[in-house]
Amino acid sequence: MRLSDLKTGEKAYIIKVKGHGGFRKRIIEMGFIKGQEIEALLCAPLQDPVTYRVMGYEVSLRRQEAEQIEVSNEPWMQGEESEPLTSTSTPRDQQHNHTGVKEITIALVGNPNCGKTSLFNFASGAHEHVGNYSGVTVDAKEGYTQFGGYRIRLVDLPGTYSLSAYSPEELYVRKQLVDDTPDVVVNVIDASNIERNLYLTTQLMDMHLRVVCALNMFDELELRGDKLNVDKLSSLLGMPMVPTSFKTGRGLEQLLSEVIHIFESREGHDEYYRHFHIKHDHEIEDGINHIQKYLKGNALLRMRYSTRWLAIKLMEMDTEVDAIVRGLPDYGHIIEARDNAVRRIKEETGEDSETAIMDAKYGFIRGALHEAGYVVGAKEDTYKTTHKLDALITNRWVGFPIFFFILYLMFEVTFTLGQYPMDWIEMGVERLGELIGDTMSEGPLKAMLIDGVIGGVGSVIVFLPQILILYTFISFMEDSGYMARAAFIMDKLMHGMGLHGKSFIPLIMGFGCNVPAVMATRTIESRRSRLITMLVLPMMSCSARLPIYIMIIGAFFSVRYQSLVMISLYVVGIVLSVIIARVLSTWVIKGEDTPFVMELPPYRFPTAKAIFRHTWEKGKQYLKKMGGVILVASIIVWALGYFGTMGVAPSLEESFIGLLGKSIEPLFTPQGFDWRLDVSLIAGVGAKEIVASTIGVLYTDDFNFTPLTAYAFLLFVLIYFPCIATVVAIKNESGSWRWAFFAACYTTLLAWVVSALVYQIGNLLL
Ligand code: GDP
Ligand code: MG
Repeated sequence: MRLSDLKTGEKAYIIKVKGHGGFRKRIIEMGFIKGQEIEALLCAPLQDPVTYRVMGYEVSLRRQEAEQIEVSNEPWMQGEESEPLTSTSTPRDQQHNHTGVKEITIALVGNPNCGKTSLFNFASGAHEHVGNYSGVTVDAKEGYTQFGGYRIRLVDLPGTYSLSAYSPEELYVRKQLVDDTPDVVVNVIDASNIERNLYLTTQLMDMHLRVVCALNMFDELELRGDKLNVDKLSSLLGMPMVPTSFKTGRGLEQLLSEVIHIFESREGHDEYYRHFHIKHDHEIEDGINHIQKYLKGNALLRMRYSTRWLAIKLMEMDTEVDAIVRGLPDYGHIIEARDNAVRRIKEETGEDSETAIMDAKYGFIRGALHEAGYVVGAKEDTYKTTHKLDALITNRWVGFPIFFFILYLMFEVTFTLGQYPMDWIEMGVERLGELIGDTMSEGPLKAMLIDGVIGGVGSVIVFLPQILILYTFISFMEDSGYMARAAFIMDKLMHGMGLHGKSFIPLIMGFGCNVPAVMATRTIESRRSRLITMLVLPMMSCSARLPIYIMIIGAFFSVRYQSLVMISLYVVGIVLSVIIARVLSTWVIKGEDTPFVMELPPYRFPTAKAIFRHTWEKGKQYLKKMGGVILVASIIVWALGYFGTMGVAPSLEESFIGLLGKSIEPLFTPQGFDWRLDVSLIAGVGAKEIVASTIGVLYTDDFNFTPLTAYAFLLFVLIYFPCIATVVAIKNESGSWRWAFFAACYTTLLAWVVSALVYQIGNLLL
């Protein structure tokens, strides 16, 4: 029987995962291993994907992937766990430099969503964003704290399930651990999903690092009534484990003292600080020994890496490690030994070496948990609410309506509620202008302050409340876990675009700001989907474009149509992104599709503090931009408009900016733009808000064009050149200027064509 045959609510036991490569590996790492019970929980609205529960965790798979998994109604594996055998080895060469400065570097490692960033924030007092879906942290963040006479440097790494070279995050984390050798690794574990989380821990054990475990979410474990002897587990794994909850900060001090303790003590002298080898079956162990023999001959290698870890990775066919050993004189022997071992394992167990090694790890984990008296409690189903909510939110009939309603609500509240503070700020700005107008004497300085600074910055700052409201919504959706569901129900549609369910989150984030959205694409494993997502992202109308929309729409359309025009812009952006994604995936960036594995984290009610912090961070960035780029640009635009070839220009048309605008005017005749609009478009290349501030500076009298031109202009603003920051982000994330350049060009060209078409056709019809 196949997993895909399972109906909602039915349970079965996993026999085998078929398929190959990254998909298979990932699936097994997520807990789809022999003998595990699995339950089909619910289907997405379009019957695909389906969510399953395995090891108390929820994972969604596409149908075609579920077909790769064989299941049976009979449990067949009992008491097969291998004993956590202990074998202490000689400590790896000491790399930790005690140079008098009492500083400890801690790297935070753990699965996505286990609370690393929460820990980081608690310890360092930082305001990093915590989120309730995988991959919120896409980069290493650094923070500091003082404790026990040490200055502790914390590095928050992206979440990973494992340390294979499968996704960019995994490689990144591994690189950090190997190349930057933190003094102590803090492995953050979601204690309410301990079995699966310990998989990563076993890999850290292989790497032979100094590890302290934070058994986070201990509050949830207790709530459920789980039993676990933490001390026992600590001694079994040879690393200190501290129950923590970073919702409240519980356990932080103890965790840090353990870190210092581990840092100061020597391996093997302490029950909680010993090195274990996870014992594999003899065929595998033989293979490891054999390979290790050659590796140990190289002193440099032995210093940088645990040779056992390298050997295990080689047997797992890890390409990165292969590249590390490639330069060795013994490379031929090593690979020969590896191939022999792999063949032997296949012959004797019928498994490939990767699976055999993973099985051993899970066996070790089960054994250790068993011995530590781990029992899952039944006091309270922590997922009960989650299940009820999921049944509704991902329901075939109501899932989409709920989703669109939430989006509608988000924009509606943003615009209507935002109107009030916006009016107040507008009034304040006006008063300020009047005040300066009444008190200062005439001259360029006064003109600069009123028309340049207040006119420019003022016309943008009024949108701060709306931007804050929008970000509050986005933070709430992320933190509560709804974003992950949105990705889940959108997967099939995204698939139709040649994208991935995971592309959806960056796309939604794009409505806030394209720059973090481009960075958030890192969670997408397939390079192809990732690139396409990045390239269509500029079509998502970011909040910087909002001021322009509001300004132009407010001036040219009657109140009745304003919302409609606004929504139409967003819709045009979305429709264009669909078309572009299709075009790109069919003709430009070809390649194979990636499997869809996405966890559905339990719903959590986000703390007000977290939401507030995140929203404020964004608001601060916006204000900073205001004080920097936008202020400078406003003054430049003002100066270019104030002065001309003969000193102070008698009229705008004779000023520098007038001349510039006039010279490029012919380019935009098909759209019916006048030179002032052209100038503002050029100014907007830096940041789109500047279009609004420029218009604010240039149109001191009334606007004098038709609603049709206004609409064509709005479309141009929507589509053309994403701001410089976004282009740079695309360059960084795609790794080449080529794609950044491509994004800049295609958008501008498309903007020109679309706005010209709309204007010309509109003129014929109206
Ligand atoms: P990361 O992906 O590992 O960085 O995880 P985050 O720090 O972003 O946390 C993920 C979610 O878990 C957030 O919604 C946190 O508020 C929540 N969270 C973190 N620690 C705890 C905890 O100890 N208990 C509970 N109940 N929730 C937690
Ligand atoms: Mg994080």
